[in-house]
Amino acid sequence: MKAIIFDVDGVIVDVRESYHYAIKETAEFFLGQDVPVSVVKEIKFKKAINNDWDVTYEVIKEFGGEVEYSELVEKFTEIYEKLKYREKQLLSVEFFKELKSSGVPLGIVTGRPKGDLEFVLNRFNLRDFFDVTVDEDDVVDKNLRKPHPFPLHMCMESLGADMGIYVGDNNADREMVYFYRKIYGKPMKFVHFKRVVDIEVPADFETQSEEELKSFLLGEASRNLEGERVYLP
Ligand SMILES: [Mg+2]
Repeated sequence: MKAIIFDVDGVIVDVRESYHYAIKETAEFFLGQDVPVSVVKEIKFKKAINNDWDVTYEVIKEFGGEVEYSELVEKFTEIYEKLKYREKQLLSVEFFKELKSSGVPLGIVTGRPKGDLEFVLNRFNLRDFFDVTVDEDDVVDKNLRKPHPFPLHMCMESLGADMGIYVGDNNADREMVYFYRKIYGKPMKFVHFKRVVDIEVPADFETQSEEELKSFLLGEASRNLEGERVYLP
């Protein structure tokens, strides 16, 4: 069975005004100096760091500062709480409704902590579309978090799927898919949704448009169902 699994930030929601600014403002708080948001993005995307606390830590280091990781997380959380209402929905309820009605199981693999994931799914009425979600809190061992393919493996196992498509927006996502194929040996396509961050990432399919993304995924889902019918007794 084939499953479609989504990243959240940069795919389902635009976090340019929330997480990216939370990184900037947290770094500024500890550094006592201005940090351009362009530098934040450069460090996040060039170094393919998935976790935004890690990005903040890296930004502070880059500017020659030092910080206790737990203090950073505390400050970051406080700032993000104020900025989270600035997030905008990128993929519509209609989009997920159509995918869901094609019969394909849907999942989420995200670097968001559980509370932040629940917040965004409830806020945009998306909760019911996903059969399985794997967030940062589900993966206890830090070394096994994205871009390590373990969270993707967890999601696939829980869905009972043996092939899949992952929709992501950056290099950390592509890396996760690449290593998933290598380590777990199951077919997994990488789709690059480049609506928000238009960077070059090798992908099986790429688009900026919700409509194009939908037809690609529906095509994949229907092929799967036809294929399955052949093997049914
Ligand atoms: Mg993302």
